[in-house]
Amino acid sequence: MNTRGNLFIVSAPSGAGKSSLISALLKDKPADKQVSVSHTTRQPRPGEENGVHYHFVSVDEFKALIADNAFFEWAEVFGNYYGTSRQVIEQTLAQGIDVFLDIDWQGGEQVKKLMPEAVGIFILPPSKTELERRLTGRGQDSQEVIDKRMAQAVSEMSHYKQYDFVIVNDDFDTALQQFETIIASQRLTCASQSYTHNDMIVDLLAE
Ligand code: GDP
Ligand code: ADP
Ligand code: 5GP
Repeated sequence: MNTRGNLFIVSAPSGAGKSSLISALLKDKPADKQVSVSHTTRQPRPGEENGVHYHFVSVDEFKALIADNAFFEWAEVFGNYYGTSRQVIEQTLAQGIDVFLDIDWQGGEQVKKLMPEAVGIFILPPSKTELERRLTGRGQDSQEVIDKRMAQAVSEMSHYKQYDFVIVNDDFDTALQQFETIIASQRLTCASQSYTHNDMIVDLLAE
């Protein structure tokens, strides 16, 4: 059987819960799903590990990677650079593994242009008050950083229509279930099934 993984773009205003949803999805380390670990120039938060949450690099290192064409997409978000490794994406999809990109809308737009079959999922919080409560409750960013992220939230959310699916992350378990449903359904699209079951379909359609 042929398989090629699907590429999922997951975007949301900061604090809406995309990292939580992706980590819950990958909690049991499924063999057919993987998150892409981005490069960033932002400082690690307490508890963040290099190579696990991000590849933490300097601005000069990031610029050298841009020059080497190492990024599938990159963008400046909240004053820091963030980028997705090209090689990892291509190799992982070729192994039949679904890849999840936790990236902002600018990155999402670049990925959709390069790979129109990528599936966009936008996560919305139930309200602005709840979004601010989650950003504060996460307890990992200073008030200044939180204010900057809240100020950008409306502009990030205004891009939700460019995505194929929208999940409102109010009750976490419901949102997770909806996320899993979208992923499972992508394995059943006509394009995906034609690819996976190519030999069987050729056989079925032979006169
Ligand atoms: P981190 O960046 O890896 O520390 O994780 P997050 O900031 O994404 O999430 C922090 C923790 O909150 C994780 O263990 C999540 O599983 C958990 N979490 C996220 N949403 C909910 C929720 O709605 N209810 C509960 N009980 N836990 C949640
Ligand atoms: P993002 O990755 O979008 O910035 P996180 O996944 O870090 O957001 O979530 C921000 C905070 O909100 C975390 O502390 C997380 O535990 C909490 N959170 C996420 N989803 C929910 C939810 N449905 N209900 C309550 N809290 C949530
Ligand atoms: P955080 O600092 O909270 O981890 O991420 C801040 C923002 O940067 C989020 O909107 C996140 O989705 C985005 N981001 C993280 N990695 C990448 C990446 O590789 N490319 C792009 N374009 N955005 C990213």
